[in-house]
Amino acid sequence: KIHVWNDDKTVNSPYKDVVIPETTLAEYVWQVLDKHPTKTATICAITKRHYTFEQIYKQSQTLGANLRRKFNIQDGDTVAVLLPNIPEYPTVVFGILNAGGIVTTLNPIYTAYEVQRQIQLSEAKLIVTLPELVTVVNKALELAKVNIPVIAVNTNQDLPDGTVSYKELVEDNHVDLNVLKQVKRNVNDVAFLPYSSGTTGLPKGVELTNKCLVANLQQQTTDMRMYSFTTETNQDSVLAVLPIFHVYGLSYVMLQSLTAGLKLVTLPKFQPDTFLHSLLEYKINNLYLAPPMVLFLGSHPQATSKHLESLRVMVSGAAPLSRVDLDKLMGKVKHEFHFTQGYGMTEASPLVTISPIGSKEYETSGFALPNIQLRVVDGDLKNLGPGEVGELLIKGPNLMRGYKNNPEANKEVFVDNDWYRSGDLVSINDRGLVTIADRLKELIKVKGYQVPPAELENVVKENPVVADAAVIGAPDPQTGERPKAFVVLKEGSKATEQDIINFVSERVAPYKKIKEVVFLDNIPKNPSGKILRRVLKEKYC
Ligand code: AMP
Repeated sequence: KIHVWNDDKTVNSPYKDVVIPETTLAEYVWQVLDKHPTKTATICAITKRHYTFEQIYKQSQTLGANLRRKFNIQDGDTVAVLLPNIPEYPTVVFGILNAGGIVTTLNPIYTAYEVQRQIQLSEAKLIVTLPELVTVVNKALELAKVNIPVIAVNTNQDLPDGTVSYKELVEDNHVDLNVLKQVKRNVNDVAFLPYSSGTTGLPKGVELTNKCLVANLQQQTTDMRMYSFTTETNQDSVLAVLPIFHVYGLSYVMLQSLTAGLKLVTLPKFQPDTFLHSLLEYKINNLYLAPPMVLFLGSHPQATSKHLESLRVMVSGAAPLSRVDLDKLMGKVKHEFHFTQGYGMTEASPLVTISPIGSKEYETSGFALPNIQLRVVDGDLKNLGPGEVGELLIKGPNLMRGYKNNPEANKEVFVDNDWYRSGDLVSINDRGLVTIADRLKELIKVKGYQVPPAELENVVKENPVVADAAVIGAPDPQTGERPKAFVVLKEGSKATEQDIINFVSERVAPYKKIKEVVFLDNIPKNPSGKILRRVLKEKYC
């Protein structure tokens, strides 16, 4: 029996620490090149467009050199990526990193308002998108009053006016790659800048350095590893159905798959037919999901044991998983396979805990990864013992450097000498198994996606009839939670529930839409003006 609890009630990982290589993310991932240059690295499940490891590597070098030469991207410049899951995604990401840039990823279903905000906050110097998203991008740039180049990934579509052809940039045989020698990026420089609202407030830029990302990939290379590395005769396939713009899809699915030499089958969006068909056609072995997809596989009549036949490992993460949904899915699986739960967050690049291969303790989220320490604390940050529920604090090499340009938020989340406050309520048992009990932070999660209430409150308050507003997550059996708004109207103003819902719907991505509205005379707040969300939850949910 391994003792993970220390005398001071901090908790260690049961796994031996791993050595984190002092390399950049690109150096770490592209070690794969010597092993399997000509195997397929990515393929689109629908169009069958595909690339080998060597092609992605070479095209990302060419793209990097062109970003530097033609667009003057310099070390530390941010480049925005607004793309669905397509097989060119890794080329774009490494092209930007090769140029010395920082990658900020955006949800391809964002509205122009949402794109505008992230472009402004991240100070992006350029944006890479799809031809069909150029209209949204142009509107966002107009709103942001910035004029940055737009590269369109034009695989076989026409190039929209005013955009630059991705195809020409990556297929350019004349570019001088020597320009890449000017790039001076080291392990402690930021590589990714995803946006997360963390424990409170609006989305903030999460500074993930090369080291954070390399650490999190390396932390998964112990005996708890979920995948097999590619060999001469075998190549596992992974379905990228989780969005790559989110760090769960980016790191845990895309980067891990590349590093291990696996075949990444990309699905641009979740559609029942194509999802099920891809599982069969590509004999998917490793499947990373969010809970609504577990629900889908378990309850959809067309999803049968045949679709799940090739699966060796299935991981669910990003939001709480219902035991009922999981049992339904398990009932359909007729062969031996491993189901595991992972728990993490954008700020941790993302994985913090995972249940070990072979574990049947499905309701837990497993053990801390190697090199990670945990604490469970009460409201005064005093450590609690085994089985006691409190806020989870995390320490490890995969934790973000901090939020971009936001010292106040950093002071709030990093306490007691660099312990990161997760904002999640958990308990840890005597063996070190972590169970997520609830969310202390205000964040709403719809289908595993972040819906920051502060962002929706701002949108609701933009409506001229609204005096004040609060938004919380109400429990929902399909999506986990659904946004519910409480609205105080200005004196003499009138509005219906549908008016408020419509007003918000025009401005936010579909999953952020308000589903219910309650009109109140005032919003319950504490003396310093903070919305008492718990009070609203207890009374109205
Ligand atoms: P994100 O930064 O979007 O990945 O959101 C991170 C948050 O999602 C965590 O702080 C948790 O609140 C929630 N979360 C992630 N994984 C799990 C899980 N396995 N069970 C319950 N909640 C989870």
